[in-house]
Amino acid sequence: MKYEKMKFYGFSDINSEIKKQKTNKFNSKSDIFYNSKEYNNDEYNHNKNKSIISQRQNYNYKDNYNSKKNSYKEYENIITSRIGLYNLGNTCYMNTCLQNLIHCKFFIKKLVKINQRQKINNNTPITYEFFDICNNVSNEKETIIDPSNFKKIFSKKHKEYKGYAQLDTQEFCRILLEDMNYELNEVKNPSKYKELSTEGKSKKQCDKEFDELFKSRENSIIIDTFYAQIINIFTCKCGYETYSFQKILDLPLLLPDEDKPVSLNDLLDEYFEGDIIQFSTKCKKCGKKTAHKKDIKISEPSNILILSFQRINERTQKKNISEIKFTEKLSLKKYVERDCGFYNESQYELYGIICHKGKINFGHYYTYIKIDERDWYEFNDSKVTYIGREINTISTSVYALFYQKKS
Ligand SMILES: [Zn+2]
Repeated sequence: MKYEKMKFYGFSDINSEIKKQKTNKFNSKSDIFYNSKEYNNDEYNHNKNKSIISQRQNYNYKDNYNSKKNSYKEYENIITSRIGLYNLGNTCYMNTCLQNLIHCKFFIKKLVKINQRQKINNNTPITYEFFDICNNVSNEKETIIDPSNFKKIFSKKHKEYKGYAQLDTQEFCRILLEDMNYELNEVKNPSKYKELSTEGKSKKQCDKEFDELFKSRENSIIIDTFYAQIINIFTCKCGYETYSFQKILDLPLLLPDEDKPVSLNDLLDEYFEGDIIQFSTKCKKCGKKTAHKKDIKISEPSNILILSFQRINERTQKKNISEIKFTEKLSLKKYVERDCGFYNESQYELYGIICHKGKINFGHYYTYIKIDERDWYEFNDSKVTYIGREINTISTSVYALFYQKKS
């Protein structure tokens, strides 16, 4: 998968150091930077361009949604909708992801605004189809929505989604958000990639510089909504610090090898656990080649936090059924860097839970979503059921969690 590739870039000589860390746990497929944004994706974008052009030739688009509706009402109707989506044949992976995006207040509010600026049109085919579903669920006359147009357009670009195989919801979600990010990218003339230096600068300065460089190349409501910025802090024995940064879309959390009860906090602790790294370049201050302490922190928390649990072990082809305990209120304070200016933006509230029942290749996804910040509903393809004010937060089937940052 192209999204697994990553490029460390940004500050000082750390890039080469990190690349050398073959034994480091984060270099594995499911590493911390699994969904890092990479810069040298020109070839990838080129391919995307090609597929979009071919879609345009084959498809007649309706006029873009030039909504005359009151925008507040429009987005309110979308995020409070309780309308199911038809299962087109093993498409529960798609429906669960779509429902969590449809009910994502922060995102939909921005999407509705973008539509009012007529930015959702035939140049943004996947976003267009997604927004079409949003409009359909907001229509109170509808009972169940058929998402086949969306699937058709999406799978024109991603052939692996053409048939009706059982696929991973989290992988689908990443690809969909990346597609919309590409379509909605506001940067017309991306600036050139450059190495930044941390020398003599504060963490906050470096963090800001990285964010600005990143957004001068790629910026959209997707980046704004779902991407967090991560800082890696490398400290030499003499105390000298260097930094590197990444943007990440979600946090894929590893589960223990054996099935056993775990808490979300334990999994997060492990994700943000530091390391000791042997540098082969000389420290700029003491001039020695020595071991550095590595700390991983969030420098800029995302507005929406997606956590996924790595239940599928690709090596053993087994599903991990560990019982996971999570909470509706989540504080990331422990993992947020104090000195980057976003320390107080670390409180989250749960609004979506994706569950998976069954075996690795024979199972079913469904999702629980909190509506009006009060009532929980189960969205199981076409069926929507009221659950109540409380939701079970201990589960052997929880697969992904969607949290929104408290404003
Ligand atoms: Zn040193």
